[in-house]
Amino acid sequence: MIKTMLQRLREEVLEANLELTRRGLVLYTFGNASGISREKGLIVIKPSGIPYENLGPEHLVVTDLGGKVVEGELRPSSDLPTHLFLYEAFPEIGGVAHTHSEYATAWAQARQPIPCLGTTHADSFHGPVPVTAAMTEQDIACSYEENTGRAIVRAMEHLDYKAVPAILVANHGPFTWGPDPGMAAHHAVILEAVARTAYLTITINPAAQPIGSALHDKHYLRKHGSNAYYGQKKGKK
Ligand SMILES: [Zn+2]
Repeated sequence: MIKTMLQRLREEVLEANLELTRRGLVLYTFGNASGISREKGLIVIKPSGIPYENLGPEHLVVTDLGGKVVEGELRPSSDLPTHLFLYEAFPEIGGVAHTHSEYATAWAQARQPIPCLGTTHADSFHGPVPVTAAMTEQDIACSYEENTGRAIVRAMEHLDYKAVPAILVANHGPFTWGPDPGMAAHHAVILEAVARTAYLTITINPAAQPIGSALHDKHYLRKHGSNAYYGQKKGKK
């Protein structure tokens, strides 16, 4: 019964997971995407350790908001508690994605936020992409995945999670989110491109400066918010 009700979300989550691998963001099984039905209070997430090429909508795992498996034979991704924490803290998100994509992970390992050096970044992320504080031994020893979520939320405390839908977890890798699973994956793809270009930019010129606020706001606000005008009007084909 639930399977039928969540069929669409299952397909969206499957598609988000496949997008991560298609774009080369995921080695083996190092990544996961999920989606939430706020209405039903249920999460759909990739199962743990299953190769993407074998993944079908029926393999995805449905859990409640406490992480209890409601439907599915397989164990959910071990990062489920991080996803759950983000869904609770960021009430308007509908999807979460996590990868160990190369350049974003390099910034995460360097524990450096990604500065906004150009308009590709400004189009999707309104400001630098932050990095969490390093986790303590205690955070790691007990409830590690949930504490990862806690570290993310702490680092986002003074930021608008809708305007900056990405974070680097120190010494680990990126988490991204969005209004649905597809947008969460999309942000993971853009983040990797932005991380790579930022790396190249400062390699060419270590003194490269962040984009000015006028250009930054112009690019972000023409795509987002009430005065957005980029692309086609909703409903137009
Ligand atoms: Zn990871």
